[in-house]
Parts: sequence; structure tokens; C-alpha cells
Amino acid sequence: MQSEQVALAALGVASALLVWLAAEKRRHKTAWHAMEGWISKRPIYKFVNPDKLMVITDFDATITSGDSQQCHDLFGESKLMSAPFRAQFAPLLDWAANPDIDGVEWWDRAHSLMVQHGMPPRNLIPRLVREARMIPRPGALEMLKRLDELNIPVLIVSAGVSDVIEEFLRQHGALSENIAVCSNRLNYAGDSAPKSTSPSPPITSFTKSYAYSSASSFFAAHAERKYLLVLGDSTTDVDASENVPHDQCLSVGFLNSRPDGVPHAKAFDAVVLGNDGSLQPVAELLDEIAPPVSIYRSLSKKALHGLYNDSN
Ligand SMILES: [Mg+2]
Repeated sequence: MQSEQVALAALGVASALLVWLAAEKRRHKTAWHAMEGWISKRPIYKFVNPDKLMVITDFDATITSGDSQQCHDLFGESKLMSAPFRAQFAPLLDWAANPDIDGVEWWDRAHSLMVQHGMPPRNLIPRLVREARMIPRPGALEMLKRLDELNIPVLIVSAGVSDVIEEFLRQHGALSENIAVCSNRLNYAGDSAPKSTSPSPPITSFTKSYAYSSASSFFAAHAERKYLLVLGDSTTDVDASENVPHDQCLSVGFLNSRPDGVPHAKAFDAVVLGNDGSLQPVAELLDEIAPPVSIYRSLSKKALHGLYNDSN
């Protein structure tokens, strides 16, 4: 009788597992297009050893969903920041109202306001990030976990703010040792208010090709990795790999809600559609070069083990 109950319970667990797996699969299924570059280069990546691979990725609207708040948005929109600071900073976020401020000048103005007002106070950064509307893109955390398991180095090249990016990753349990962040950093010295920002000139959407020199230690440590995987949502995100020596470079772009996909189709080898488009093409690639242990089998074993232990 007891063994029948156990068998029935096991069947229940297995069914629930199947339903969960199907829902997960649906969540990560996404609409994306393979361009010519993907069709020609993707088969080569099937045979790439994980120790020859390196990932260079954007952060805002790439690791996060397309409609998430971006790093600098947090400073201009959060009530945690002082009112006088927000009054001066928020207008900078309205790009349409600032046609005269473009390029590096925008970052210089934004960062000098932050230093001038002492914003954000260092102790508020965890709360600022926790309360922000910053959502991981479907599959992003799973991808970072897989890359960590496979010891594949990841360089996040972002025109945002390192302090925010690292806090976001920390809060999601994704700030692993294989990740380096090449972005703008607030320098607090021994104080609670930022005294300066670095590097100078700042990392901007227009200067991502400097990543190779800005993150020279990272690239020196991984010089033998000649297969690049580049991710981004702006066409300029591919610039981050521009000066990096490589045998092959495969890129995935995220169109998010942009109405015109042509520039993305030209810039990237594959284009994922929608603000919540998942990392499916990358997950499939990683599964191919390093097949994971069957999650179904391991979860079933765990569940059944628990059941047998409970019933004894
Ligand atoms: Mg971006």
C-alpha cells in the first residue's frame, strides 16, 4: 500500500515537473531572426571548446528587459535622490528635449551633477536598485549561471554605471568571479558621497570600441580565447569587440520595441524581437557546446529521494 502511495506521489511530482518544464520552455521561447552571418558562423561555434570562448555584453536593455529602467534613469527618477539633484538631473534623461547634448558631453554633464550633489549616497545604492523597475531579460540569469559553471569569462561593457550593474547582479545572485564590468564607476574614497567618476573620458554608447584598452587586464588574462560572443541592444554595442583579436565573432542583437529592425539586421548576426525577447539563441548555443546534465533527471531524482525519505 505504502509503495503504491509513493508511486502515485512520484507520478504527481513527475507530471508537475513536466508542466513546469513546458512553462519554462514557453517563457524562454522567443521570436528571433538569423542573419547571413549567423547561418555561416553558427555551425563553427558548435565545435568551439568552452575554454576558447569569451562573452562581451551590454547591460541596459540587454541583460535587463527592453523596457527596464536603465542605470542613469535610477538617479533622475528615484525619490531616494534629493529634490534639487533630481530637478537638474531628470531633464537630462529627456533625450528629445536635449538635442544639443550628445555624445561624451552628456555623460560628462550627468556625472558632474552627481559629484556636485553627492548623489547617490553610497549606502542607498542597494535600495535604489532593489526599488527600481529593472527586470532581468528572460534567460539572462540562467545564461550567466551557465557561463559561470563553464568558466567562460564575461565582460560587461556598459555606458551605464558599474556600481548599479554590480549591485543588480549581486541582488540576483549573479555577480560571479567570471564577470568583469567595464563601465563608469563612482569613486567614493572613504566618504558616503561620490567624489569623482572614472574612467575619463567616460564609457559611452559612442566609445565602446575603447573597451579593449579600458579592460586591458581582462583581455590579457583571456588572450587565448579567440571565439567571441557579443550581445547588445544598440547597434554600437558591437563596437566593444572591434579591437579585440579574434578568430570568430558571433553577435546577437536585441531589437526591443524599436520599429525599424534594418540597422540591427545589418549590425548583428541574429536579432531577437521584443522587450522580453529571451536569450534562447545563446542558451541553445551553450547547450550545444557543453550539454547540461538533464535537469529533468536530476530534479526527478531529488524529488523521489525526498519522497522515499519522507515515507520511511
Ligand atoms: Mg543597452
